[in-house]
Amino acid sequence: MNLVLIGPPGAGKGTQAKSICEKFNLCHLSTGDILRNEVSKQTDLGKQAKDIIDKGELVSNEIILEIIKKFISINMNNYKGFLFDGFPRSEDQADMLNNLLEEIKVGISKVILLDVDQSILLQRINKRKEEEGRDDDSEEILKSRLDVYFTQTQPLIDYYSNLKLLEKVDGTMEIIQVNQRINSILEAV
Ligand code: AMP
Repeated sequence: MNLVLIGPPGAGKGTQAKSICEKFNLCHLSTGDILRNEVSKQTDLGKQAKDIIDKGELVSNEIILEIIKKFISINMNNYKGFLFDGFPRSEDQADMLNNLLEEIKVGISKVILLDVDQSILLQRINKRKEEEGRDDDSEEILKSRLDVYFTQTQPLIDYYSNLKLLEKVDGTMEIIQVNQRINSILEAV
């Protein structure tokens, strides 16, 4: 089973991804986590990505393709599939993902949209900034991240609806309720 998790910053993708992966033995592929790790290790790739992440913009598709290909090849034999979190973030990246999955002869089983109203996102991100201290959770960068989400990522909702893969989940419910809702969708896959 291969899943894609879509939602604006602060929708709770990371939290849900962890429990879904544990329950269904999936490998959590978070492009944001991989990039932050590269930045903290000060690798060449991390250095290239840092300024862009700090502006809340999208790093290049070349960088994303490189990290995804590497991650998939290292992990593909150890799990029942992947949960893509934070990727794809644009239609071009969705095409990229289709091509990659075609190469390894698998498809996308479901795309879960975590739907959360913008006013709630701001509250959640402010809380996360206090708890985790992520540099790109500042109010100014968040504006740009939301803007990128609405212009580049939101079109994926139609993209995956047209492919009959999309399941919308109300992300404003309690974490446990969101989790139960997702589990019931995935148990039926
Ligand atoms: P996230 O943790 O998913 O919110 O990602 C943090 C930041 O990493 C984003 O604001 C982007 O700068 C970068 N990033 C993560 N995933 C991608 C992606 N699929 N394409 C381009 N940039 C990404």
